[in-house]
Amino acid sequence: MECEFSYQSLNFIQGHCLATQIPPEIFINICQDLPPIDLLSLARVCKKFYQYLCSTNSTTTQEIWKNSRLTFLPFVQMAPPEGMMELQYVKLVTERGCQFCKKPRIRKVYWAFLVRCCRKCLEDRTIRLDQVRHHLHSPNLIPDDFLCGLTFTTGFYKSGWDRSPKHRPANLYWIQDVHKTYDEFIKLDVNERKEWVKRKREEGKRKMDEVVKREIEHENEYWTKTMENSKKRDDRASMIDNLIRREKNEYGFPRFKMSIVEQCMTYNKAMMSTSTNSFTERAWIGFRNKLIPEYNQLFTSLKLQRQETERHLSIDVAIQTRQMDIVKTVFELLRPENDQNQFNVQQSSSSSDSNNNSDDVDNKDQINTRVNFVFESSLIKYLPWCPSFRNPPFLNKDPRILWDDDFLMSVLIPQLREEALYLKNYPAPIETVCGAFLHGGFNNKRIFGCKLCNCNSQNPTQLYSFFEIRLHLTKGEHKVRMINDDSMIEVYPSLAKSTNNNTNPGQIFPRNKPEVFFAAGFNCNLICNLLN
Ligand SMILES: [Zn+2]
Ligand SMILES: [Zn+2]
Ligand SMILES: [Zn+2]
Repeated sequence: MECEFSYQSLNFIQGHCLATQIPPEIFINICQDLPPIDLLSLARVCKKFYQYLCSTNSTTTQEIWKNSRLTFLPFVQMAPPEGMMELQYVKLVTERGCQFCKKPRIRKVYWAFLVRCCRKCLEDRTIRLDQVRHHLHSPNLIPDDFLCGLTFTTGFYKSGWDRSPKHRPANLYWIQDVHKTYDEFIKLDVNERKEWVKRKREEGKRKMDEVVKREIEHENEYWTKTMENSKKRDDRASMIDNLIRREKNEYGFPRFKMSIVEQCMTYNKAMMSTSTNSFTERAWIGFRNKLIPEYNQLFTSLKLQRQETERHLSIDVAIQTRQMDIVKTVFELLRPENDQNQFNVQQSSSSSDSNNNSDDVDNKDQINTRVNFVFESSLIKYLPWCPSFRNPPFLNKDPRILWDDDFLMSVLIPQLREEALYLKNYPAPIETVCGAFLHGGFNNKRIFGCKLCNCNSQNPTQLYSFFEIRLHLTKGEHKVRMINDDSMIEVYPSLAKSTNNNTNPGQIFPRNKPEVFFAAGFNCNLICNLLN
């Protein structure tokens, strides 16, 4: 585009372009808020705008670009290099493609030479330090001396990423610069050269410091782009995850168990994809069609494997295993809302006055899960006391036979939900273990005694918290395999209510997941490692 324009051409443009009638002050004002890329397109609109924006001697033009750069290019905050206009500077960092061969998408800027170019063009235009003497036919020359005022980049010469000495990294100099500074150098006599080298060395050091600063600033931009892309990949991955979790089976429960999905090749490939494109509806249909057969096959073979290994379990171990299957399935069903966090068995270790709070939590859960409820997380704490959980309907009355997911989802879990709601709405008496734990709010108070140690004693010698009494029963002298609350545990609710506050809080607390479950009343002592 040319800079000059005639009166006629201005007239012609004005006839067609209302925008050019904008007075300069207002134009400048508009430009204040535009990013460099918009300024560049504005400059292409008409000659007048081009003049405003591409003038080489107007300080206003410089100001417009500088403002835009400082506002919109956070990684190009350094002032332009000596002798470079704001416009050139902005173009260097925002435009893409090799400046020499026009190869597209190149964004690498060599700050030592102030060019944006491809590797090939860099190699064609630069020279290794150790080749300078040969190139200038001057075997006695000390290149280190006469090149010391120049900036350089460190590169691997001639496509050499191999380790041979010929391809070692070397300092690359811009050939034109080498010629120019050589011409300057050889005109000097021997005495002048010493001063010249000293001066150039300082100049070179100062320039290289600046080059390094610019490279770091630009590198930051590169990393930010990389982070943006990795965020896009994350978004894509969570999009896929959400779509999988959204799928429902005929009972309205999630179609896929994530623990199995996570073992599917199709899923893992998608998760490791480097694509930053968003996941389209079409991509999802293709993905789903591949996932389903793989999922079903894996699901069946995992179940067969399990059934084989569990065929020989002893009855009580098998019962606990089935009970934990229920718990696991309930959790799988909760996963779509990602509310494992809301489920907190330890919340029941609160003191009596926080009982109201836990009711608030329940209400909140109900609101959250109304949209997509399967088994509300707030109901999990009632599970250990649900009749169908304590004494589940086993297939052929054999706890060693795995349940079908269909049966769990369509029969057992809905039944358990009813029972849990009943326990919630009709609290058990406070003298029972269930009532004391779920509604008394003093599960961590030492108000539980061991019926096996003191047979029906009115004055227990030793008191425990709920977790402690359960450990006491399964460990030590009793070695109970299956705890049966009310035939083994005595509750002394009056101790917690007495005003002289003689109940001590429990001293032992669960330290890992199985212990948290055990402390919440789940009998998993035969299949999990508990304390000691
Ligand atoms: Zn090129
Ligand atoms: Zn040459
Ligand atoms: Zn005991």
